[in-house]
Amino acid sequence: LPETPCRTRFAPSPTGFMHLGSLRTALYNYLLARATGGQFILRIEDTDRTRLVPGAEQKLFEDLEWAGLLYDEGPDKGGPYGPYRQSERLPLYKKHADQLIREGKAYRCFCSPSALDELRRTAHESGLSTNYPGTCRDISLEESDERASRGEPFAVRFKSGEKPLVVQDFVYRRFRNQNPEEDFVILKRDGFPTYHFANVVDDHHMKITHVIRGAEWLISTPKHVEMYQAFGWEPPQFGHIGLLVDKKRQKLSKRDKSANLAYYQDHHVLPEALLNYLVFLGWRAPQGKDGVLTLQEMVDNFTTQFSKGDIIASQSKLRYLQNQH
Ligand code: GLU
Repeated sequence: LPETPCRTRFAPSPTGFMHLGSLRTALYNYLLARATGGQFILRIEDTDRTRLVPGAEQKLFEDLEWAGLLYDEGPDKGGPYGPYRQSERLPLYKKHADQLIREGKAYRCFCSPSALDELRRTAHESGLSTNYPGTCRDISLEESDERASRGEPFAVRFKSGEKPLVVQDFVYRRFRNQNPEEDFVILKRDGFPTYHFANVVDDHHMKITHVIRGAEWLISTPKHVEMYQAFGWEPPQFGHIGLLVDKKRQKLSKRDKSANLAYYQDHHVLPEALLNYLVFLGWRAPQGKDGVLTLQEMVDNFTTQFSKGDIIASQSKLRYLQNQH
């Protein structure tokens, strides 16, 4: 375990309801913070306005409370801030996007959605896998400012480097993308940041030291690290954890009833039972500590020994849980 207090976060998007995978991620982040005397932050990543699910945010709060994973920082926790909602932090993202534009590390892209579709189509027809060939990269700052002040709509794109980047991970060790990134969007035409950008800006400002998240985000991490470098910020330590899959090695999907937290709540499964089931999915408990643990015992015995690769969430154990009313 790290010797200094870790600040971790759980950063769900209210685009759906809690499932086994998200609860497991929340649990590990909670445990790392508590085991090191640090803080566990809740941040609602609600920047994709088209995918918000009504009621999802409220249910998230209730679910964390149900599970006993209490977060720090918030009006009821004696602090002026938190839980954090990205939709309430737009000026911060805009300020940082502006900074990158001024420094020549990002630029405004004036291509309309239909122009982008067209670019993609012609590129694919000529056998290129590119989605965006850097069309607006060379517009001068002067012209760009002028067009923006005339009210022309734009997105902001990050100027990605030429070389793929190697990132460090405390579970996967080292990871590199096959190809360098294309210039990706950091601020959308609606003024909302993309997940990638808001995530980096917030992890920095919230002084997050360790990020434990699902392995599906590993391929995005080089993008994130590029942005940390552009700002001259130290990235947090990343640990990507293996994804939960079923017996057929299919990722547990939200469509699958028994992947949703609500299913267990409806069947009166005790939160401790579910947490016990989840904590051992890809986490190596210290010797002799693989029996039933209370939340406090999980804290007391926590280590960052995770296994990589897909983790089979065994159905037989789940069924057993369902019968434990
Ligand atoms: N909002 C992302 C999610 O819902 C967070 C990913 C991350 O932890 O960086 O999975």
